[in-house]
Amino acid sequence: MAETTKTANQASERQAQAPKEDRYDPRSIEEKWHARWQADPTLYAAEPHDSKRKKYYVLEMLPYPSGVLHMGHVRNYAIGDALARFMWMSGYNVLHPMGWDAFGLPAENAAIKNNVPPRKWTLGNIEHMKAQMKRLGFAYDWSREVTTCLPDYYRWNQWFFLKLYQQGLAYRKKSKLNWCPECATVLANEQVVDGCCWRHEETKVEQRELEQWFVRTTKYAEELLAGIDQLEGWPEKVRTMQRNWIGRSEGALVDFALDGPAGPAGAKISVFTTRIDTIFGATSVQIAPEHPIVADLIAHDPDLREKVDDLVREQAKAKEAGDIAGIEKHGVFTGRFALHPFNQEKLPIWVANYILMDYGTGAIMSVPAHDERDFEFAHKYGLKMRVVILPRRVGEPPGADEEETAILPYTEKDSLLINSGDYNGLSNQEAIDKMSEDAEKRGFGKATVTYRLKDWGISRQRYWGTPIPMLYCAECGVVPVPENQLPVLLPDNVDISAPGGSPLSHIPEFVNVQCPKCGGPARRETDTMDTFVDSSWYFYRYTNAHLNDRPLDTATVAYWFPIDQYIGGVEHAILHLIYSRFWTRFMRDLGMVRNDEPALRLFTQGMVIKDGAKMSKNKGNVVSPDDMVARFGADSTRVYALFATSPDRELDWQEDGVEGVHRFLSRAYRFVMRNADAVAKGKSVAGAALSPKARAIQRKLHQTIKRVYDDFQGRWHFNTSVAAIMEFVNELYGAEEEIAAGKFSTEVLADAQRKLVMLLAPFAPYLAAELWERLGEKDSLLRYPWPEFDPALAKEEEITYAVQINGKLRGHVTVPADSTQEFVIERVLADEKIKSAIAGKQVVKWIVVLGKLVNIVVR
Ligand SMILES: [Zn+2]
Ligand SMILES: [Zn+2]
Repeated sequence: MAETTKTANQASERQAQAPKEDRYDPRSIEEKWHARWQADPTLYAAEPHDSKRKKYYVLEMLPYPSGVLHMGHVRNYAIGDALARFMWMSGYNVLHPMGWDAFGLPAENAAIKNNVPPRKWTLGNIEHMKAQMKRLGFAYDWSREVTTCLPDYYRWNQWFFLKLYQQGLAYRKKSKLNWCPECATVLANEQVVDGCCWRHEETKVEQRELEQWFVRTTKYAEELLAGIDQLEGWPEKVRTMQRNWIGRSEGALVDFALDGPAGPAGAKISVFTTRIDTIFGATSVQIAPEHPIVADLIAHDPDLREKVDDLVREQAKAKEAGDIAGIEKHGVFTGRFALHPFNQEKLPIWVANYILMDYGTGAIMSVPAHDERDFEFAHKYGLKMRVVILPRRVGEPPGADEEETAILPYTEKDSLLINSGDYNGLSNQEAIDKMSEDAEKRGFGKATVTYRLKDWGISRQRYWGTPIPMLYCAECGVVPVPENQLPVLLPDNVDISAPGGSPLSHIPEFVNVQCPKCGGPARRETDTMDTFVDSSWYFYRYTNAHLNDRPLDTATVAYWFPIDQYIGGVEHAILHLIYSRFWTRFMRDLGMVRNDEPALRLFTQGMVIKDGAKMSKNKGNVVSPDDMVARFGADSTRVYALFATSPDRELDWQEDGVEGVHRFLSRAYRFVMRNADAVAKGKSVAGAALSPKARAIQRKLHQTIKRVYDDFQGRWHFNTSVAAIMEFVNELYGAEEEIAAGKFSTEVLADAQRKLVMLLAPFAPYLAAELWERLGEKDSLLRYPWPEFDPALAKEEEITYAVQINGKLRGHVTVPADSTQEFVIERVLADEKIKSAIAGKQVVKWIVVLGKLVNIVVR
């Protein structure tokens, strides 16, 4: 601390010795203020929740501590920081915290590669990135820092897990995982490369079934969907992504019984369909390659098994490429049949590569005449088609049969049923209702709603995560760790690379415990939690980061929540936001919070690229924030990140753009440094009317205030804010001669300079602080109110022209004072009265006396 103060003093001494310093030197300015700001922890501290002031919670998504900030971070934080500073100056009690999403796989990979324990690697990275953030001047309240890999945070993950378990929202079930037989361990999806292990390129990854913990997110599916309608402050694309992810569809479940002897007794295939009205048009039943019944169906035929294995591989490949919709459809007939539940017709059972086990029931009824995908498949394999919906609208005259089949598949729901037994003549909707009802009566189906949203599998067979607080006792079965035994600490010194299951399972002192119920021997769960658990509720913790008997304080959260503005990358638009919206509802139902949604407004910034491509080490096009700060200063780097384009668009980083911003900041700096003493020197022209130049500057100032203010009201086009400030600075330079000659109003000049500095404050905080001090101010700019906009002063001066026709007064037009002759004529011609007066006549001549009148000579 003493050291810091000394540096600050030295810096300000240097400054004092060079009062007329004209050269903008960001390094010395930024280092001076950096030292001062570090010495004042109250600068960005929020007031307590019983503050009488209006609150504003602005939050940028917390980063993964990979080791260095990249430009995407800088852009994200520059947006949030500008907003936070603006809200402080607008009089709000602002909460602007930062933390670390510190668990996860990269720490383990780095540990293996560099032989550094994940904890050490992670905490070292945090230290470094925090220093970078501070150097960039981001206004965070570090007293609220949250680090998810520390026990004072993750113990509450465990506490919440116990609550989930008590509420029936956490449960265990078998689930398939990637398994490398060589490593003898589970692989994350990103560790599977072309179907093989990332460490064993020759070893095919297998699917193994293991017991996993799941969180019942589907309990809130309906509410999560309905809630999206209220999120008007979210980008429409994100709302659509959320809706699609939840994927509600109304339809019916229908069971098709297996025909023939083999297979388990009473075996049936359940399908979900949104079009039960077309069920008489079903000509086959198709199942996913991984459907549990497949093994029985193909057991008799090794050839068939091989073909099904091919289908599994094709599907896995398409899934990995993220293009299951574009898969080339293949299938094989199993030689077996299912019975149509309504009329007992035998339908062939096919296995098809485009049907997913984890979507719906993993089986469909195929109705080629009335479904695009089924049509395509049936066409390819020559399967039967049967028309059961009259392929024309009700009331249209019937055509020839050939014409009707020519328009297949007919997928509209605006017609009547045919070839459907007792249901002939019903409309689609009548048939859907009646058939679902009958299916339920007859015991083979029912109307139902399904969701694409699945329960959330949270078990990870990894070391660097929150230990799941559960025990397994031979006597008592699954036993939760008692609340008073939390946290279950993650042990240090674990060999992560040892083969065979979760790393924690190799630590006997971790695994073997006494059962809290019967006192007998028990085993700990050795899986850890998905890191999305950490980020599901971290923003609540910021409101009271050091609470040690509860995860959060309800009254404090009630004051701060919902978050007023959340800012982050669109890549988190689905999972992170679905999980946090779920978590908020789960906490609300526990009575811990009162809000339904975590964030009212969401902003997703565009990516930062370079030379048209995503920045990556391989391409050698990474721009380092440290390098930019060293060369141009933090302010120029930040302003450029906001100025280059609007924040929602992709930003292609251009170094000459940063230079341009640096020149602009230099100009602003020089102007204020030169003219700061104007008032003190008493060059006042008080009493005199303002000169046109002074009036122009006043007008431009208020127009700029308005533009910047407007951009902060949710439009977020800070590029236009910065452009407006640039124009204003140009206008100021245009008055320099008049100022030097002592003919310029010192009131206007003093006011213009103060407000220029205030307008710069959200974007270039270091420069603004320096200039503010130069203007004689002692307190932080954040404590000063945002400049008020005066519409009267912003108004363009206007002139009213008298308009004559052949020397006779016929009307008036009003135009901006600086209008050109062409513009004046344009406006005269647009005037209805004048237009009708000269209609049908020939204009011989225009006489425009600028600033006074227009005479039109006609014949
Ligand atoms: Zn392997
Ligand atoms: Zn026991």
